[in-house]
Amino acid sequence: MRVDVLTLFPEMFAGVFGSSILGKAREKGIVSYNAINFRDYAGNKHGSVDDTPYGGGGGMVLKPEPIFRAVEDLLGQPTGEENPDLSGEKAPVRAPRIILMCPQGETFTQKKAEELAQEDHLIFVCGHYEGYDERIREHLVTDELSIGDYVLTGGELPAMVVIDSVTRLLPGVLGNETSAVTDSFSTGLLEYPHYTRPVEFRGWKVPEILLSGHHANVDEWRRQEALRRTWQRRPDLLEGLELTEKDKRWLKVLQEETPVKSEE
Ligand code: SAM
Repeated sequence: MRVDVLTLFPEMFAGVFGSSILGKAREKGIVSYNAINFRDYAGNKHGSVDDTPYGGGGGMVLKPEPIFRAVEDLLGQPTGEENPDLSGEKAPVRAPRIILMCPQGETFTQKKAEELAQEDHLIFVCGHYEGYDERIREHLVTDELSIGDYVLTGGELPAMVVIDSVTRLLPGVLGNETSAVTDSFSTGLLEYPHYTRPVEFRGWKVPEILLSGHHANVDEWRRQEALRRTWQRRPDLLEGLELTEKDKRWLKVLQEETPVKSEE
């Protein structure tokens, strides 16, 4: 996968792209990361990329030209509605996803990470200041993503969040020591609890079943604990989830043990 990030602060990405699992993924050649300063595409001698909003009001707005030019340079062709090559269906090769980081976008989820992990090329656009010229949203990007209902100073941290969660899903990135298969949200549930040595710590013991060596029983316990945790912490995740008859019976037990809190 190729990942390009358009930002005014490319230096922010060096640590994240070079460390830990992302750093190893890059070393193994599974992914390439490139942080590009779109100020280089300002097209004026002051390197100015923003301007005051039409209609007045506070804050600065990112101009369309530098961001369009930077994307076009990456793609080696013009962008916009008038260009049929970028319309997705008609494109002879798979067009890259151009993702605008934005608190007004679709809320990022594990499902979206799984979808993006199927792509060959992702381009992230990180905003700063008050906002973007609306024409970037309307005529350039394919996706708008938010990492949650709060506002950050810029799109760099949100882009890092998305890039991290997508990279760890690429084949060959996670070794045996970490696996995405049973992760929270991948199964539709929150993950079951984990324990390691010692068997007893300050009088708190590891559940007996995990020491039994009986794999089928351990798997069943983990499924039940994942359901318990999800019921207790995120009952909304259970809505519409495909459950076995066994799961449903266990969920009934849990519901009787701890009925859902009434809305205040
Ligand atoms: N005025 C904008 C609004 O109310 O929607 C917020 C602008 S914010 C200060 C500056 C930039 O930070 C945004 O353009 C976006 O790139 C990024 N950003 C802030 N919060 C974000 C979030 N929750 N998810 C994704 N990007 C975010």
